[in-house]
Amino acid sequence: MKVVIVGAGVVGSSIARVLSQYEGLEIHLLEKNADAGMGVSKANTAIIHPGHEDDPDKYPLRAKLCVKGNRLWYQWTKELSIPAKWPGELMVAVEEEDMKVAEHYLELAQRNGVPGVRLVDHDELLQLEPNVNPNAAGALWAPTAGLMSSPMAAPALVENAVENGVRFHPETEVTGIKIEKGEVKGVETNRGFIEADLIINAAGLYADKISAMAGIDYFTIHPRKGEYYVFDDDAEPKVTRIVHQTPTPITKGVYVITEMNNGLMIGPTAQDLPEEAKEDTSTTKEGLEFVWEWAQKLVRELPPRNRVIRTFAGLRPEPPDGRWIIDAYDDPWGFINAAGIRSPGLTSAPAIAHYIVEELIQGKLDIKLTRKSHWNPYRRVFWFKTLPEEKQEELIKQNPAYGRVICMCRTITEGDILDIIGRMKKMGIRTISLDGIKMRSGVMSGTCQGSYCRIRLANIIARETGIPLWKVTQKGEGTEYGIGDIKVLLREEVKENAE
Ligand SMILES: Cc1cc2nc3c(=O)[nH]c(=O)nc-3n(C[C@H](O)[C@H](O)[C@H](O)COP(=O)(O)OP(=O)(O)OC[C@H]3O[C@@H](n4cnc5c(N)ncnc54)[C@H](O)[C@@H]3O)c2cc1C
Repeated sequence: MKVVIVGAGVVGSSIARVLSQYEGLEIHLLEKNADAGMGVSKANTAIIHPGHEDDPDKYPLRAKLCVKGNRLWYQWTKELSIPAKWPGELMVAVEEEDMKVAEHYLELAQRNGVPGVRLVDHDELLQLEPNVNPNAAGALWAPTAGLMSSPMAAPALVENAVENGVRFHPETEVTGIKIEKGEVKGVETNRGFIEADLIINAAGLYADKISAMAGIDYFTIHPRKGEYYVFDDDAEPKVTRIVHQTPTPITKGVYVITEMNNGLMIGPTAQDLPEEAKEDTSTTKEGLEFVWEWAQKLVRELPPRNRVIRTFAGLRPEPPDGRWIIDAYDDPWGFINAAGIRSPGLTSAPAIAHYIVEELIQGKLDIKLTRKSHWNPYRRVFWFKTLPEEKQEELIKQNPAYGRVICMCRTITEGDILDIIGRMKKMGIRTISLDGIKMRSGVMSGTCQGSYCRIRLANIIARETGIPLWKVTQKGEGTEYGIGDIKVLLREEVKENAE
C-alpha cells in the first residue's frame, strides 16, 4: 500500500515515524521546503504541555491527545536524542481573584487525567519559583510540563523515519490531488506524479488548500501570530519553571521560560491575521510591548532590555472554531486530514500520529496493518562539548575537525557540523542550508546571532556540497546567502553586455 504524507512539520513527521513501524507500506513524506520542520514547527514556545488547558467538552481531541502526547514525548525525546527538560509549569494567579481561574483549570486537569496537578499557595509558589512576582496569590502547579528543542523535532523524526524505510522528498510541492471513482489515486507535484492509496494532509498553514484539492473545502486556516523576545544565554535573572499567568479574556497568557539553550524567553502574543498572511512572520512594536508588559507582571524581575539578542514571530495554523480537523473520509476514500493543528500541536504530535494510524487508518478505514518484527526507535547523536575531556582529546586525534570550534557561543565544532551534514545527505536533503544546520545544532542562535559562525558554516557547506559560496542558502532556493564570490555579479554583467 502506498501512503503519501503532505508536509514534514512535527505532525507529518510524527505520522511518518509511527507508520514506519508497520510492514508492507511504501511511505512518501513530501515537503515543499528544503528541509523538514521549516514551517510552523520551527518557531514556537516549545512547551510540552501537561494537558490541563483544554475543556474536553469543547475540544475533545485536544484534551485527550495533549496528555498522551506529553507522555509520548518523554519517551520519544530520549529515543531521538532531542534535548528536553521537565521543569514543571506554574499557572500563576497574580491577584487573589485569579485563584478561581486556577481552580477551574485544576478541574480540567482532573477531567483530562493530568497527573500531579495541584494548587499551591503564595509561600510554596515562591519556593518553587523564586523569580515569580512576590505579590502573586498562588498558582496551579503542573509537574509534568516540559520543554524541548522544538526546531530539532521534525528533522530528528524524519531522520529516524527514513532509517526505518520512509522516503523523504524535500523541495516537493503538492499542486493537485488525483481522484477517480471516489478514491484517491495520487498527488501531482512540481517533481511529477506520485501514486497513493492513502493521502494524509499535514500541511500546517496550507492544510486548507490541500484539503480543497481533495474536494473537502468546508474550512479555512488563518494564521495567528505569536511574538517573542529571547535574551542572551547568560542574562539574569532567569526562571527555573515554566511560568505563565491564569488566562484572561484578553490573553491566554504570556510565558516566561528558560529555553533549552539556557536563555530566558518571553512571549507569545496571539494576534489573528487574515487568511492570506500565511508568511507574515514580522514582529511588531505593539506585539513586543504587549509581551514585555505582561511578562513584567509575572516575574519579580526581567533582565535588562539591552540583553535581548533576538525577537521573532511564529504563526499558528488556526482552524475556524479552534477544533483540530483530524478525520478520514468516505469521499474521497483514502484522504485523511490532520489540519488546523494549532497549539498544543507540538505536544500532541506523537499522539495525533497514533490516533491517525490506530483509530482512523486501522479503525475507520478498516485497513489491517501488521507491525514489523524489527523497527529501530533510536537516533543516536553525540555533541563534542558534552564528552569528557579524555574522549574529546581522543576524538580530535582521530578527526581534527572536532578541534575546530565553529560556533563559539554554543561550542559547536566542525566535526559536529560534518556529522549533521552527513545525516542530512542520508535523509535525502538536496539543499544543505544554513537554517537546516541551525535547527539541528543551535549554531547562529547564540550571543553573536551568526556574526562569527555564519561565514564559517557557509564555507563548510560550500566545500562539502561542491557549490560556490554565494550559492549557499539560508533556507533553500531563493534565499541565497549571496556572499563570497562577489565578482560573479560583475561576470554576469559582463556576459549580459556581451550578448
Ligand atoms: C507562536 C506559537 C507558539 C506555540 N507554542 C506551542 C507550545 O509551546 N507547545 C505546543 O504544543 N504547541 C505550540 N504551538 C503549536 C505548534 O507549533 C503547532 O501546532 C505545530 O508546529 C504544527 O505542526 P504542523 O506539522 O501541523 O505544521 P507545520 O510545521 O507548518 O508543517 C506543515 C508543513 O507542510 C508543508 N507544506 C505546506 N504546503 C505544502 C505543499 N503544498 N506541498 C508540500 N508541503 C507543504 C510546509 O512547508 C510545512 O513544513 C505553537 C505555535 C505557535 C505559532
